[in-house]
Amino acid sequence: MALDLRFDGDPVLRVIAAPVTIFDAGLAGLVKDMFDVMYAAPGRGLAAPQVGVSQRVFVIDTTWKDAEPSPQAFVNPQIVAQADEIAVGTEACLSIPGRAFAVTRPTWVDLAWQGLDGQPHQRRFDGVAAICICHEFDHLNGVLITDIGVEQ
Ligand SMILES: [Zn+2]
Repeated sequence: MALDLRFDGDPVLRVIAAPVTIFDAGLAGLVKDMFDVMYAAPGRGLAAPQVGVSQRVFVIDTTWKDAEPSPQAFVNPQIVAQADEIAVGTEACLSIPGRAFAVTRPTWVDLAWQGLDGQPHQRRFDGVAAICICHEFDHLNGVLITDIGVEQ
């Protein structure tokens, strides 16, 4: 299955994505293809709506550009807690090429999610991972950095 990146203006990027209910080879294949698109782009994160699939799935790899790869996939993610402390960082988006935005995010988030096998997980993420997770999580709710950031 070849997946194509969708760009700002595509309606799929504005839809609230549906929860995943079936944890099968199709889901695993979707995630594999999403990693392929993300690494080829090249990017550090990709949400399913960015390849036209309106489901609550995203992938990140915050280290591969500078060190060893650390691919992580998140199904039905929920931010269950977040830092009161916020920080402003520069973000780009594969769906909004060539533009950068200053975006304010919490410095950490506690994320609950399911793995590809449906098993529940929960962990705290900080630093670049927290930023990346907030960015991709927003995609699942139809939110883009053009909505919440200041163009630089
Ligand atoms: Zn994005």
